Amino acid sequence: MNYYVLTLFPEMIMQALKTSIIGRALEKESISLEAIDIREYTKNKHKKVDDTPYGGGAGMVMQVQPVYDAYKTLEEKIGYRPRVIYLTPQGSVFSQKMAEEFAAEKDLIFLCGHYEGIDERVLEEIVTDYVSIGDYVLTGGELPAMVVIDAISRLVPGVLKNEESAQFESFHDNLLEYPQYSRPEEWMGKKVPSVLLSGHHAKIENWRREQSLRRTYERRPDLLKSANLTEKDRKFLDNLRNNTCK
Ligand code: SAM
Repeated sequence: MNYYVLTLFPEMIMQALKTSIIGRALEKESISLEAIDIREYTKNKHKKVDDTPYGGGAGMVMQVQPVYDAYKTLEEKIGYRPRVIYLTPQGSVFSQKMAEEFAAEKDLIFLCGHYEGIDERVLEEIVTDYVSIGDYVLTGGELPAMVVIDAISRLVPGVLKNEESAQFESFHDNLLEYPQYSRPEEWMGKKVPSVLLSGHHAKIENWRREQSLRRTYERRPDLLKSANLTEKDRKFLDNLRNNTCK
């Protein structure tokens, strides 16, 4: 997977993503990352990349020319038109399902806005996907791009040491993950559930499934509508509902 980030703050992207698991994946070349400075492409002699909005109003708008030229140079280098993701609060809200879809691509371009955003005409010309990381407004698209890159990268083969760990996590099958415990067996009077110490794999699996269902029911009941549930799961949830209503 090759990521390209069009941004006014390339150092922000490169600094943050060179640490921990993503940093290791970059070193191992399971993924590659290039942050392209849009400002390098401006034809303005003062290196300006933004101007006031037509029609008035607060803030500045990133102009078409440097954004388009930065994109075009990149497209020529890559040799085809890959998906271009514009990070924007006006996009579809990012999800694990979208991460899975993007992880199947070979190259992805992320476009980060700043100030009041980017002139609509260049967005119409180059963007294929509008993605938001939630219903709030940030100062720029760099943090959202990093969030999306992080979530996708975990699904790229070779990035996580144990491939299993990306498979049975929250949102897999539209359920939240069961609670996790590690040593010590007892802490501040709180004991690890005894089934986890039993060594009985079928019982552990059953307990984890039930915890996963319970947790989703309590914290994100909206997910259950699209979850892949067995008859046994449904009975467990019915019981839970009946007991909660009493
Ligand atoms: N004026 C824009 C609006 O109301 O939709 C908001 C612009 S915001 C201050 C500046 C940039 O931050 C945006 O162009 C976008 O790239 C990024 N951004 C802000 N919030 C975001 C979010 N929730 N998800 C993704 N990107 C976001």
